[in-house]
Amino acid sequence: SISLKSINAIKKIINNCKKVKKLISKSKNVKSICNKIDKNIIDSPPINLSKGGFIKNGISKKLDELRLISNNANQWLVDYQLSQKEVTGITSLKIGYNKVFGYYIDITKTHLDKVPDNYIRKQTLTNSERYFTEELKEYEEKILSSFDQILIIEKQIFEKLIKDILDKVKEIQFNANIIGEIDIYFSHAKTAFKNNFYKPIISEKSSKIKLKNSRHPVVEVLLPENEKFITNDLELDNKKKQIAIITGPNMAGKSTFLRQIGLIAILCQIGSFVPSEKSEISIIDQLFTRVGASDNLVGGESTFLVEMNEAANILNNATSKSLIILDEIGRGTSTFDGLSLAWSITEYLHNNKLIKAKTLFATHYHELIALADELKDAFNLNIGVEEYDDEIIFLRKIKKGGANKSYGINVAKMAGLPAYVTKRANKLLLQFTNQKNELQNESIVLQEEIFNNSEHIIDELKNIDLDTLSPLDALNKLNNLKKQLES
Ligand code: ADP
Repeated sequence: SISLKSINAIKKIINNCKKVKKLISKSKNVKSICNKIDKNIIDSPPINLSKGGFIKNGISKKLDELRLISNNANQWLVDYQLSQKEVTGITSLKIGYNKVFGYYIDITKTHLDKVPDNYIRKQTLTNSERYFTEELKEYEEKILSSFDQILIIEKQIFEKLIKDILDKVKEIQFNANIIGEIDIYFSHAKTAFKNNFYKPIISEKSSKIKLKNSRHPVVEVLLPENEKFITNDLELDNKKKQIAIITGPNMAGKSTFLRQIGLIAILCQIGSFVPSEKSEISIIDQLFTRVGASDNLVGGESTFLVEMNEAANILNNATSKSLIILDEIGRGTSTFDGLSLAWSITEYLHNNKLIKAKTLFATHYHELIALADELKDAFNLNIGVEEYDDEIIFLRKIKKGGANKSYGINVAKMAGLPAYVTKRANKLLLQFTNQKNELQNESIVLQEEIFNNSEHIIDELKNIDLDTLSPLDALNKLNNLKKQLES
């Protein structure tokens, strides 16, 4: 009844918010049921009803009488134990109870010679014997039967009360919904106020996500006191600014930025203010993410397979209203495999008119910078760092254009890898970079060939005249197309 009555308390506090006032004014009157609960149930009822004791006194005459018997019987037991101690002269004599044997008089083995003749043996234990008497048996029956009846009556009263509550269940649920809705508004308002959130513009007509001075609401709170969260801007749109390829060193803040945009998008969609000074955000039907490395080895899925499953889900289900966040793709396989996949996934997201979803793609494949320059609706962003005496300083600021270096070895040095390893890695890096520059042109051409080949197959499919094609020809054609794809 305390929860049911809370709506009245809320009503009293809410004075200056019209919308909430209107909402709460629709609440149903549940006073009669509250009164019934208060009248019947004790103030702090037990969680488990099996032992009774939850119905108030004064509700049922029969219940009150039985309780009196039960309480007196307890007193009788206390008195009986005392009297038996006196009669036998055994001070350690105890009266106890267990479910199987009922009430018993427990006498330790050392006092067995003092047991009176009217004691009847019930159970033998290692250190004691247990007895009962005719008097004890009589009282046991009285106590147990009164306890059983108490339970039956308490349950009857309780069930009747439940029935009365069920008659009012619609009203109760209606009020619960109102409180739920107010709770959402209140929690959003409190979070927005406490964390300095701003009101976004959400529009069905807009296809943009445009943010000014946006922040990650969790990272900014968890940063050490002497570090300030650096705000960032973003503009995504289905045309021209559909895919942002984000490059930058490890630890620069790419993941933070990606998640920050995802969180802002969700907060905005659920009606909350957002950690961004100015924001214009389109309706987003689904937020797709491919973040971090996880595996499902028990389910027979390697890290890379999980990564590809997630990528497949995105490519097969995203729409032009979706927001896609890719934090690295293709890292779980060999460099060229991974790069080729990352490259063709970007092309697919860009070229497939059925998707065209706004995408943020953080990657260490710097080859994708050239791709983003080529594709008309993609663009490059990078997170700035400054190099200072072989050390790097993270600026955390998102800038236009691609990053020139990954600084992976610098970060490894910061992490404390032995100097031998980082020096050797620097030499190897130089060697690999030279080799790769020679290979690069070739690999890009290869990509285009794959793309052209599939276009050629689409043309063939378009030219098939289904009206004149026999089943056998259809099978041959299918076989032929498949071979071309595999060649
Ligand atoms: P990356 O994905 O580029 O490796 P992270 O996003 O994991 O980098 O960022 C690394 C750390 O940098 C974060 O844990 C956070 O403490 C800090 N950081 C990230 N972005 C910001 C920011 N905008 N302002 C302040 N600190 C940041």
